[in-house]
Amino acid sequence: MSKREDINDDRDLLGPSAQVPSEIPTGVDRRKFIVRSAVISAATVMNGCTRSETEQKAPPPAPESAPAAAAAGAPAVPLAADLNVVMKQKGPVLTTVDEFYKVGPGPSSSHTIGPMRITYDFYQRAAKLPADQLAKATKLQVNLFGSLSATGKGHGTERAALAGLVGKEPATVDPLFLDGLRDKPDQVFPVKLGSKSIDVSLKDIIYDAPKGDFKHPNTMTCKLLAGNDVLLEQEYYSVGGGFIEWKGYTPPKKNPPKYPFATMKELRAHADDNKTTIAKIMLANEMSITGRSEAEVNAFIDKIINAMVATVKSGLSMSEDDVLPGPIKLHSKAASVYKRAMDDKFQADRGIGVLSAFALAASEENGRGHLVITAPTGGSAGVMPALVYALSEVRKVDRQKIRDGMLAAAAIGYLCKHHATLSAAEGGCQAEIGVASSMAAALTATAYDAPSLVVENAAESALEHHLGMTCDPVAGYVQVPCIERCAFGAVKAWTAYAIASNEIASRHRISFDETVLALAQTAKEMNSKYKETSEAGLALSVVLC
Ligand code: SF4
Repeated sequence: MSKREDINDDRDLLGPSAQVPSEIPTGVDRRKFIVRSAVISAATVMNGCTRSETEQKAPPPAPESAPAAAAAGAPAVPLAADLNVVMKQKGPVLTTVDEFYKVGPGPSSSHTIGPMRITYDFYQRAAKLPADQLAKATKLQVNLFGSLSATGKGHGTERAALAGLVGKEPATVDPLFLDGLRDKPDQVFPVKLGSKSIDVSLKDIIYDAPKGDFKHPNTMTCKLLAGNDVLLEQEYYSVGGGFIEWKGYTPPKKNPPKYPFATMKELRAHADDNKTTIAKIMLANEMSITGRSEAEVNAFIDKIINAMVATVKSGLSMSEDDVLPGPIKLHSKAASVYKRAMDDKFQADRGIGVLSAFALAASEENGRGHLVITAPTGGSAGVMPALVYALSEVRKVDRQKIRDGMLAAAAIGYLCKHHATLSAAEGGCQAEIGVASSMAAALTATAYDAPSLVVENAAESALEHHLGMTCDPVAGYVQVPCIERCAFGAVKAWTAYAIASNEIASRHRISFDETVLALAQTAKEMNSKYKETSEAGLALSVVLC
């Protein structure tokens, strides 16, 4: 069978409904039973499949024994049901590329870009208060909670939050401004609010309770005070990938997409029914949701591609002796790996080495707090740029094919955000590097004109082999394991493409939608210690001296 002949997916021919038992078996924990049944039902709806014979014969979940309960460890912080990031999972995907691919300072989209956007938003709200209220203002104060408090110091969250408060935006902030805050932490900045000028400094950004009953693990509050009186207060959430929400948030109204989809199955059906590609469906949706022209969408994507290429170039140009900021004293290795890999006598080794070097380069830029692109996050900011750089600068793939790849990759990110999460504080590293690798696999397959099923299979494979990956950054710095993890994510993306484009596509057993469900479920059940708290794993076993 040729590669092109085998794309008629027979998975949809499976039966119409799953047989989910409605009775809770005796001795089985009620919560486990309900969760398991819900996952099976969701899989049924998304895939149109009955449970497999194996699944139907599978024993019910084991009764909650004492050791199992102990192994479950600390419960994860549950997400409030009224957060938009939770509610919007019910309708069609409405995310757009300009919301998704964001340029901003590293090292973390949720801990730097999100908080900077939040304090910038609060500053703008405060500036709109009536003049008589502003005249009474004496102080601006930001409190960081949950994961923002637990690992914020290593992420530079306080510097990002202060930068937003003094009117800096993530896409345009000069990283040297943030470096300056690190090197001279006592600096004081006047913030103009009406006729008032209020001095702010890093002392106004408070690391508050790391644990508590928060709506989201990345919660923060911003206050404008008049002495002890609160003139304005807003609770915010940095929900992953630089996306933000606040208490009472309602998403902006958007036009309906031309091709509504909430699953990969639906997205691929649009592509196949219209004899076109996933990328073309995504482009049509971008245009219908935002009202932008094709040229405008392409111009934005070009900006992101160029920024990705620039971050790899900038990372490769750093000295081999450069040491990244922070207590780990980690040496930059991108330039060394690149130079030495280029000398490899075996072509395949050279390919893996230089692809890794590209990912290390962009990821080290993230570690330096320089400008990176969320794809989908700051911690994973080396993965997509590595593939974009390899395809455009090394393989010289046509620009339009790379644009198409960026749109297919965005579809992967949107679906993971829609049904699972992009936030390590919610789902561990599988939600960052796993999603990034899956996106990069879809990018590569699309750039090489793979049929839609092969694009799906490549993305599925890359995501599948990151399931369960925890987030345990050493000392709270997005360096170890993050930087090398980007290199592995990039190489796995290439491997996923290599397998998907060479296997018989219709025999690929696992659908992307099934793997996204597994991502969501694994995220829910992952011990909270492994969700960007630096309380376990490598963060515990590595001793810095
Ligand atoms: S371990 Fe993974 S998820 Fe956690 S900070 Fe590092 S890259 Fe991000």
